[in-house]
Amino acid sequence: MRFRTLVIALLAICLLTSMGWSKTETELPTAVVTKREMVVTANPLATEAGAHILKIGGTAADAMVAVQTVLGLVEPQSSGLGGGAFIVYYDAKTGKTTTLDAREKAPATATEDRFLDDAGDSIGFSNAWQSGLSVGVPGTPRMMEYMHDRYGKLPWQRLFVPAKRLAQKGFELTERTSSQIAELLDRNPGCGDDERLFFRDPTAFEYFVDTDTCEAKPAGTLMRNKAYARTLRALARKGADAFYYGPIARDIADAVQGDLNIPGDMTEEDLANYEVVEREPVCIDYMGYDVCGMGPPSSGGLAVGQILGIIENRDDLMGSNPLDADTVHLFSQAGRLAFADRNKYVADSDFVSVPVAGMLDPDYLADRAAFITGTDMGTALPGYPPDMIASYAPDTRAKLSGTSHVSIIDRYGNALSMTTTIESSFGNGVMVRGFLLNNELTDFSFDFEDADGIPIANRVEPNKRPRSSMSPSIVFDDDGNVELVTGSPGGSRIIGYTAQSIMNVIHFGLDPQEAINIPHYQNRNSYTELETPIPGVTLDYDAEALAEQLRDEYEYSDVRTGAMTSGLSSIQVVESDDEKPGKGHGKGRKHFKTILVGGADHRRDGTVGGR
Ligand code: GLU
Repeated sequence: MRFRTLVIALLAICLLTSMGWSKTETELPTAVVTKREMVVTANPLATEAGAHILKIGGTAADAMVAVQTVLGLVEPQSSGLGGGAFIVYYDAKTGKTTTLDAREKAPATATEDRFLDDAGDSIGFSNAWQSGLSVGVPGTPRMMEYMHDRYGKLPWQRLFVPAKRLAQKGFELTERTSSQIAELLDRNPGCGDDERLFFRDPTAFEYFVDTDTCEAKPAGTLMRNKAYARTLRALARKGADAFYYGPIARDIADAVQGDLNIPGDMTEEDLANYEVVEREPVCIDYMGYDVCGMGPPSSGGLAVGQILGIIENRDDLMGSNPLDADTVHLFSQAGRLAFADRNKYVADSDFVSVPVAGMLDPDYLADRAAFITGTDMGTALPGYPPDMIASYAPDTRAKLSGTSHVSIIDRYGNALSMTTTIESSFGNGVMVRGFLLNNELTDFSFDFEDADGIPIANRVEPNKRPRSSMSPSIVFDDDGNVELVTGSPGGSRIIGYTAQSIMNVIHFGLDPQEAINIPHYQNRNSYTELETPIPGVTLDYDAEALAEQLRDEYEYSDVRTGAMTSGLSSIQVVESDDEKPGKGHGKGRKHFKTILVGGADHRRDGTVGGR
């Protein structure tokens, strides 16, 4: 297996080189290799915290808690205590893979017309986003405790030290966070309390904005967050209950109910009732590998699985390298078919019936793949998966991008893939006790039925979790060993980013960093997108020429080029030539030493750590 992968990798490198990419390739980020453990995150300080916890003997679950608490501080626009997450977790001791649903929930009083005005019209995304209506009951603190209780080794309090220290001593605001603050201010200029929609909350405004100039605090500003340090101290001492009961819960409910734009309805009781749910992973065989991801309420595992299943069925149409027009065509058409099913069928399966097995049924996927021809199929219609028992109207909205992905493998062989979010950039823009509240409920459909009165699966319902695109994934080889841990932020583009990273490693034999460096392309059943290359970050190629080729030869009517800001964090487990027995990294690998090969996304601030 390993030999085959290496051969393919060498062939791929020769191929890329022969296409004139060698010069650029040498300037691109290269993979990091470690022997024992590895952590990949979207921020160097978070990676450092995770690597330290691994180094002192912590497990992947331990490292995740340290990483998450640091991310909530240094990349506050993307994830934090006020948000939710999904985890795919491989436990080396039992050889079992499980998934954890820590998705935010709608309050108990939520109704299906939540985002409609009295006339039945949508209140508009911005209005809903920047309001108390969008805040779901957070799942992240409960998730951290759940994972630590079951899979942690180090004392719980120890895991909070890196974030507490940074919150007290301060850290430098990154270029990326500063520019994202500026982006929000640009959308809605105005400094006065009555003028602001974004950062309407004075605490968030003062933390992120220079109140004299009304401009984003510049990169390099020393940021201290004492309120966050106090919240962490409470969590460290009393566990997640410190968040879900008592003064912190009261402050969250008050902030939601007293929102300065539109008050929401979350109560202390909603917080007290929050539970994470362990669910079966959703897995599909792709080229002899088992690709496992997150099932409903995320559409990620199913849609990634469908894309991979469909492209494998049409190997006859596959190109010879990842940027070949044939490859781009096949991947885009598979995306169309997958998004047609996703939009119609996927929502919280505790509330609606989702045909999970049918959507990944091999015969069904072969039938779906047969729709692909040598030219663009146009808008794909949803199919009829074999176990479908309820039909719904589709929810087709595309989403803005926040979120972060963390991949970890520890020395014991445990693997953890977590995508964590507060939904849009800076969540709903309100800060409580040093962390931002999410706006995850805008992931629900704003309409509850279509024009014919057919219900939408992803409509708002009390205590329901909104549909997600988050696609944390773990890929296993045919002996059941962890092969690849991957995932990305990026709104509904997450699905394509993740599927492409898996295709690039498994089909084209690229290492995780090379896979990330390949420019993106995808189709979410509307227009086709091609990523404009970024010097020093992605491979160089002529996006406009490829777009022209798709129009001329493959009859694409709508191809757009532009930024596609993924945040992939990937780790591959590779058997080294040395046959000395290794510890960890999978049960079936006892006779081989393994090494870890990591890739981080330089479209954001990704880094790889470990040793
Ligand atoms: N809230 C989105 C989801 O769960 C993710 C947002 C993002 O990646 O930016 O699908």
